Amino acid sequence: MIDVHAHLNEIEDAAGAVERARAVGVSRILAVGMDLESNRRTLALADEHSKVVLPALGYHPWNIDTEEVTATLSHIDEHLERCVAVGEVGLDYKTKIKKSVQWEVFAEVLRLANRHRKPVIVHSRFSHQRCHRMVSEEGVGRAVFHWFSGPLETLKRIIDDGYFVSCTPALATSAAHRKAIRHAPLKRILVETDCPVSYQGRASEPALLIETIRQLSLLKRVPEKQVARVTTATARKLFHI
Ligand SMILES: [Zn+2]
Repeated sequence: MIDVHAHLNEIEDAAGAVERARAVGVSRILAVGMDLESNRRTLALADEHSKVVLPALGYHPWNIDTEEVTATLSHIDEHLERCVAVGEVGLDYKTKIKKSVQWEVFAEVLRLANRHRKPVIVHSRFSHQRCHRMVSEEGVGRAVFHWFSGPLETLKRIIDDGYFVSCTPALATSAAHRKAIRHAPLKRILVETDCPVSYQGRASEPALLIETIRQLSLLKRVPEKQVARVTTATARKLFHI
């Protein structure tokens, strides 16, 4: 199984978390970065755990610092070849960073992904439509809309364009997330933890991916083993791993 979205740099005992994940059958962890510092740490973690951790470099809308845009983007550009994706990137209309600044950074980073022919891992909180439109209009070939909880209309466009969505253990508690994932075809769904996000009061780590699989299995009425097999195959194909 592959956790396609983990903030491994935010987990204190990352080595322990990697081991615990492997023990429950998580063979790969896609570690995402959010800014210059976490991108550097993500690359270091990928070096330390090269058999398991696959790096992605990003610039999260929460972390945009207008002074650091150029340095962050050139660092991504410089190290992207060894990465499996660009992410986490996107738009968040509930954050204080101005929309116009977010649009500018997101567009830049999408072009960067295209230049390197890398897939994009998208954060689209309260901005689903615009995120999809920008990804589509920039001609991004491969994209996953992570923890997708947006409207069905946007989901349809995502699926029609050949893109993907991913789900988290929040399937157990979030009606919006369940609704979106229920309507997405299993072959377009990836599984993740978004660790160390807390679910029902407990901080997560990649080993909790088995809970995502369990919830997806219940929602789709498909056996867990089949869910694990299909989502793993999808992740391999999407990220070329
Ligand atoms: Zn995330």
